[in-house]
Amino acid sequence: MDFLHTFLKIVSQKLSWVTTDYSIPWKRYVLAFSWGNTLFETYLLLRQYPNYSKTKPPPALANHFTADVFAKSQNYGRDKAKFSLVSGIYSQLLETAILFFGGYAWAWGAAGSVLAYFGYGPEYEIPQSIVWAAILYAMSSIPSLPLEVYRTFVLEEKHGFNKTTPWTFVTDIVKGWFVGLIIGGPFLAAFLAIVRWAGDRFVPWLMGFLCVFQMLMIFIYPNWIQPLFNKLSPLPEGTLRSKIENLASSLKFPLKHLYEIDGSKRSSHSNAYFFGLPWSKHIVIFDTLIKQSAPEEVEAVLAHELGHWYYMHPTKLLTVSQLHLFSILAVFPPFLHSPPLLRSFDFPAAVAAKPPIIVSFMLFQMILAPIETVVGIGMNAISRKFEWEADAFACELPAKVGGAKGKANVDAMADMGDRLGKALIAIHVKNLSTVWVDWLFSAVHHSHPTLTERLKALDEFKMKRKASVKKEL
Ligand SMILES: [Zn+2]
Repeated sequence: MDFLHTFLKIVSQKLSWVTTDYSIPWKRYVLAFSWGNTLFETYLLLRQYPNYSKTKPPPALANHFTADVFAKSQNYGRDKAKFSLVSGIYSQLLETAILFFGGYAWAWGAAGSVLAYFGYGPEYEIPQSIVWAAILYAMSSIPSLPLEVYRTFVLEEKHGFNKTTPWTFVTDIVKGWFVGLIIGGPFLAAFLAIVRWAGDRFVPWLMGFLCVFQMLMIFIYPNWIQPLFNKLSPLPEGTLRSKIENLASSLKFPLKHLYEIDGSKRSSHSNAYFFGLPWSKHIVIFDTLIKQSAPEEVEAVLAHELGHWYYMHPTKLLTVSQLHLFSILAVFPPFLHSPPLLRSFDFPAAVAAKPPIIVSFMLFQMILAPIETVVGIGMNAISRKFEWEADAFACELPAKVGGAKGKANVDAMADMGDRLGKALIAIHVKNLSTVWVDWLFSAVHHSHPTLTERLKALDEFKMKRKASVKKEL
């Protein structure tokens, strides 16, 4: 622990200029970067855009996309790209207005007035921080509502994906605010209380708290939050259920519950995932996926998902995100005591003299944005690598399964790679996914390799497996 604090102290000393230097135009710097980022996003969209004018799918997909489906997917992609372009610029203008007119400082004053109305002064920093966060949330989310309405009821509707009714749409928003308040309020209060109590030695305490919070959410989310939005019901007995149970048991996957989720209530996009603690996992499959694919193909999608578990991808991602979090928090302390930072964002001298923790933290995060963009691109690259591995796992399943029914299992799973390929094609066709993708656009935005890349890799895995089986003979 002492080593850690010595290290953190050195970092703070190196950055001590942050607390005293009034000459750094923090706000201008944040504005410049966010515009730079929006321009870059626009450039990526413009690179991608001509792909929607292609008249034929990539050769590898020629047999799977009919002319009609391909044309539909191109139209859907084009409409989504236009929407991204407009909504990106709109959000940027909104953010610029908030920054330019000192919105963050104004909101802090407004939160103070709300508290004063109830008879509480500025010494009640934590309640004021919660009200401030709520005001900021409203300031950024309410103006974005028209975009959400357009996306759901015009864009998705036009292409046949929207299943949301206006009633569900409105209740979802209200429920979201409610959950945000119930979970977010106490979370923020605990976060601020820890930093205040531990002073500049908050880093390990805060990391510990965030770990505990994430563990708690693994219980809270499926039991109390998700049921507000979706219905999870046990997957009925039948071919699919027994196939998945057999798959899980032959891999010693600690399957506790197997659910079907009514994703079709909002959208006809399809999916499957698992979650839980190391010794007790739950699998959730979208009803849309079950409806559109044969049990053998859904099983192959699950084989891919279990590949993520087998190679401990969630744990690896968690480790990376903890390291990321640690490096952010390690640099934070000098920003915690920086009147110049608050002054640059238009906070009055009286507030800046003793910066509220939440304000410093939010401004600090804005300053980190360029680094976060790079980290995001890196995380996508890691995620794509994990997707390759999970696909390879599904292909190599016959070699990985064994147990009581060893030989029968191996034979039954020999064609898992082909089935996964079929399921992926079906998912992409149903979702009208874009199949022509610019490489730079994909590198920045995609957490999954493209369909063409995945099918090609599945073929290569199959060849490799055949070659190695021959060698064994
Ligand atoms: Zn995956």
